[in-house]
Amino acid sequence: MTDIIKKLEVSCDASDEELKSLIDSESCDTALYEAADRVRRANYGTDVYMRGLIEFTSYCKNDCFYCGLRRSNRSAVRYRLEKSDILGCARAGYGLGFRTFVLQGGEDMHYTDDMICDIVSALKAEFPECAVTLSIGEKSRESYQSYYDAGADRYLLRHETADNAHYSKLHPDTLSAENRKRCLYDLKEIGYQVGAGFMVGSPYQTVNELIADLRFMQKLEPDMIGIGPFIPHRDTPFRDMPAGTLGLTLRMLAITRLMFPYALIPATTALGTISPDGRERGLRAGANVIMPNLSPADVRKYYELYNNKICSGDEAAESVLIMGRRIKDCGYTPVSARGDVRRGGGEPPLAPRGVS
Ligand code: SAH
Repeated sequence: MTDIIKKLEVSCDASDEELKSLIDSESCDTALYEAADRVRRANYGTDVYMRGLIEFTSYCKNDCFYCGLRRSNRSAVRYRLEKSDILGCARAGYGLGFRTFVLQGGEDMHYTDDMICDIVSALKAEFPECAVTLSIGEKSRESYQSYYDAGADRYLLRHETADNAHYSKLHPDTLSAENRKRCLYDLKEIGYQVGAGFMVGSPYQTVNELIADLRFMQKLEPDMIGIGPFIPHRDTPFRDMPAGTLGLTLRMLAITRLMFPYALIPATTALGTISPDGRERGLRAGANVIMPNLSPADVRKYYELYNNKICSGDEAAESVLIMGRRIKDCGYTPVSARGDVRRGGGEPPLAPRGVS
């Protein structure tokens, strides 16, 4: 097993069989995390980039079987933030040192492309040195282009699972893995820094699907990779399905760091939800991004993707202080810079947009 870890660390690749044995085995976790940590330090030192997450709408037109925001969930409390609220969150976040704002939401048709562009350009006008990341689901290429032209820098769209048959077990017929992948390639071609990613332990997932996720990402070469455990939500068809485990999620995270040394990889909220020190363990297994919540405290509990999602009632300021301390306590350095992707191999880093 240590040979496979060494091979991954040196060549960023391994055969399907080798990956399978690593994914299935718990016996070498420590060696795997240590290798991932070496690779993250070689590429990003001890930096942990902070992203201010603004969950601006809990309305969604989709009906994904795993998600608490799904349209059919009549118990969900729905809210949406106005442009002025979003700018207010960003202002508070800027004061706390954030230089990346992530606007995430359900697919809420209330926000037209013009409204999204208006919000993005207002953010870029007020905070020109900050990156704006969108995470608002599947759109047409034209829509993605218009947000980019308005100034959006990055886009997070987890592929969820790269296997078509598995995808259709997690989603209604109106959604397809093919269209989700089309979106990711469109975003890339337009020039966004692009984030893909998948849930670990989602219903019906086997090691084969996890390998397919890694292989898909080798083709896509995403800049950001979001990996978190599936966690059931009581008002969804998957309410009785078991959650993904901490161990498997950390192994996938570490393997991902070894295969994608340049990637920005968050220690996700879902990881912090299944274990009190999940995010710290994620950092030690190769993650280098943390996304504290900047949403107004009174709506935070309603962005409920899964049961018991951590969303302390703390004010943003307080949670940022606490998070900063926790990052330092495990030997890393919270960094408020934009934290753009750093690609090795002679390829120059992507110049931040608007900075020549
Ligand atoms: N509408 C946007 C944002 C979705 S929410 C989009 O389509 O991209 C962000 C992520 O939360 C999803 O991509 C999914 O991977 C994750 N998520 C949703 N429900 C979850 C659950 N029950 N357990 C764990 N992660 C979940």
